[in-house]
Amino acid sequence: MAVKVVVDLDKCLGYANCVADAPEVFEIPEEALIVRLLQENPGEELRSAVEAAALDCPARAITILD
Ligand code: SF4
Repeated sequence: MAVKVVVDLDKCLGYANCVADAPEVFEIPEEALIVRLLQENPGEELRSAVEAAALDCPARAITILD
């Protein structure tokens, strides 16, 4: 099973909490002010990190679909 992650880029404000929680999945490129999803379907071993990122996102921009 993999995790399905969706980021609403219209909501993202670049706080980078998600990058701190799950750097394997989220990054903010130097020239950008919003997040970039590195993998849309990270493996199960990253689920808890991605769930933490979703909870820690002040903009509620991260959704986990399964
Ligand atoms: S924590 Fe939320 S608002 Fe901040 S960069 Fe990540 S997705 Fe964007």
